[in-house]
Amino acid sequence: MIEPEHVTALRDQLRRFVTEKAPREKRREWDRTHSFPCELFDELAALGLCGLTIDEEYGGSGQDILAAVAAIEELCRAGAFLAGPFIHCAFYGGLNIGENGSPEQKAELLPRLARGELTFAYGLSEPDVGGDLSAVKTRARIEGDTVILNGAKRWCTGADFADYIYCLVRSDPDAPARQGLSFLLVPTKAAGVTLAPIEHSNLRYTLSSDVFFDDVRLPLSSIVGGTERWNQGWKMLAGRALDIEKLEIAACAFGIAQAAVEEAWTYAQERVQFGKPISGHQAVRHSLVEARTKLEACRHMLYHAARLADAGQPCAVETSMAKLFIGDTVVEIALICQRVMGAYAMSDAYDMERHVRDLLGMPIVGGSSNMQKNNIAALLRLPG
Ligand SMILES: Cc1cc2nc3c(=O)[nH]c(=O)nc-3n(C[C@H](O)[C@H](O)[C@H](O)COP(=O)(O)OP(=O)(O)OC[C@H]3O[C@@H](n4cnc5c(N)ncnc54)[C@H](O)[C@@H]3O)c2cc1C
Repeated sequence: MIEPEHVTALRDQLRRFVTEKAPREKRREWDRTHSFPCELFDELAALGLCGLTIDEEYGGSGQDILAAVAAIEELCRAGAFLAGPFIHCAFYGGLNIGENGSPEQKAELLPRLARGELTFAYGLSEPDVGGDLSAVKTRARIEGDTVILNGAKRWCTGADFADYIYCLVRSDPDAPARQGLSFLLVPTKAAGVTLAPIEHSNLRYTLSSDVFFDDVRLPLSSIVGGTERWNQGWKMLAGRALDIEKLEIAACAFGIAQAAVEEAWTYAQERVQFGKPISGHQAVRHSLVEARTKLEACRHMLYHAARLADAGQPCAVETSMAKLFIGDTVVEIALICQRVMGAYAMSDAYDMERHVRDLLGMPIVGGSSNMQKNNIAALLRLPG
């Protein structure tokens, strides 16, 4: 695929980084312990990676969505362990504050995000809220110069290491559902915030947690966008940052699927059965080609949407389509690659068993495939 030279150079740099610093035994260890290598994230930040979603006036390199998406793809060759913290910084933090933050929040947070000193977690889902985000119950109210927060978030990935939770709250219980929502920046260390980790099988670069808010008291400056954006949360949720956000998980899915195809491709040339490498058996050859072809289709969906976003053009439909298509297609790719590797796809001697776990979750995380279909139908004004 033809791409700007600086993106190709970034890919080469990250590919070397991943090969050298994230060998299989380390990846296996990180997966077992739900952890990522903080020191490697610091090294990535020192390369300037976290500034890829942040304007130059705040210390970033200007919004370079194409490069940021390519970075996720390359980092995902080692699984989500290096891509995860980058996403928590550059996308959850940099993109959202860049679009929705007040001037003070931008001045305070963006330079630190650009340097990779801060990470955010997303607090959208709740015990009773998955796809229907307009139904969040976590309650925030203003008393004088304080916001008081009570409730619970679920699946808050990275709440264990992040500095802030970018948290969707119900700020006006009497308003129609979408008009009574706001976003808060909740420090994970604030008094009244407690975590209960959830054991889960996919994307184990960190823990996803239940987060409980018990009379958490925050200054008004915690309201994303400032007090004038109180009750404007739905607009932020439906805004450009979250359009682009869908590319982050799609890039992750694509990068991991690519690693799966590469592993199956190599394995099939090494494994000999019936006197020849299994890549010589026609059924296996066809499977491998099928997986690569599906992967190529994903690449086109992803980078077409990324180019639109990069050019500042409307991209809500295309990013939703990319998330839908890639999320579903990587499951097909995972199952093909798993079959090619036979028993060894179940063994921790290879990465495939982790790839399969990660890829099976892709049609769910970051907005399910059905939610993307609903979005696309609504965006294209299909009468219902
Ligand atoms: C590892 C992991 C990490 C996660 N990290 C985060 C995070 O950091 N922050 C966060 O906020 N959330 C996070 N999530 C939650 C994730 O975003 C949700 O799982 C996702 O939004 C889907 O919600 P749900 O699973 O509750 O599904 P539900 O909304 O309960 O839906 C269940 C099924 O019903 C279908 N469905 C529901 N409503 C409709 C409808 N109207 N039309 C058609 N089909 C429908 C869905 O498509 C889905 O298949 C994470 C989840 C996992 C597994």
